[in-house]
Amino acid sequence: MSTDTKRKVLIIEDEKPISDIIKFNLTKEGYEVETAYDGQEGLDKALSCGPQLVLLDIMLPMMSGFEVCKKIRETSEVPIIMLTAKEEEADKVLGLELGADDYITKPFGMRELLARIKANLRRSELMTDKDDAPADVQVFGRLEIDMNRYEVRKDGKPLDLTLREFELLRYLATRDDKVFSREQLLEDVWGYEYYGDIRTVDVTIRRLREKLEDDPGDPGYIITKRGIGYFFKKQ
Ligand code: CA
Repeated sequence: MSTDTKRKVLIIEDEKPISDIIKFNLTKEGYEVETAYDGQEGLDKALSCGPQLVLLDIMLPMMSGFEVCKKIRETSEVPIIMLTAKEEEADKVLGLELGADDYITKPFGMRELLARIKANLRRSELMTDKDDAPADVQVFGRLEIDMNRYEVRKDGKPLDLTLREFELLRYLATRDDKVFSREQLLEDVWGYEYYGDIRTVDVTIRRLREKLEDDPGDPGYIITKRGIGYFFKKQ
């Protein structure tokens, strides 16, 4: 997508003052903005107005943000950033498990929100453009990873990884048995602008293992080094 194309962001947030200030700032940055004030309206608009990104509050009338996230993911890969309250720690992890790409904790600064939106849009555009990239396949035992095209096959069968799962796998697989701490992975795979929670790494590793490993409880590829972090075992 060229940079002069207007990008549409859908804000699903029932607190009007918060929605208004986000809308004001996004509009100023050149984004097209749609708003929804309850979960049902948000879901309908997410599926009908063609947004490039969704900002999704959790506590919403009609339908919770979690439910909205789950329903969007049944048919759409649009990037979703959850807006979570600081005291609701468990919500971050649940949102990611339901397929959200990212979350930001209220109260947040506008600069942080804009940076997060930009990073998520950039990553989703990478995904869209991937088919034009030249193939660069590396083989790790029964796994084949196409580094440029974001494709992974196991025993010749494609695995359905999210972009973040792919990036994490590619990062670990190309670094020769080196062990990485969760903090290091957050910084390198999620980006330095990410003020994240290290459990984000654990959730993503768990999802990746479920797709990758013969037995996710006894992994053969992505190994936990107790008290230190994770590494990819060369096959
Ligand atoms: Ca709310």
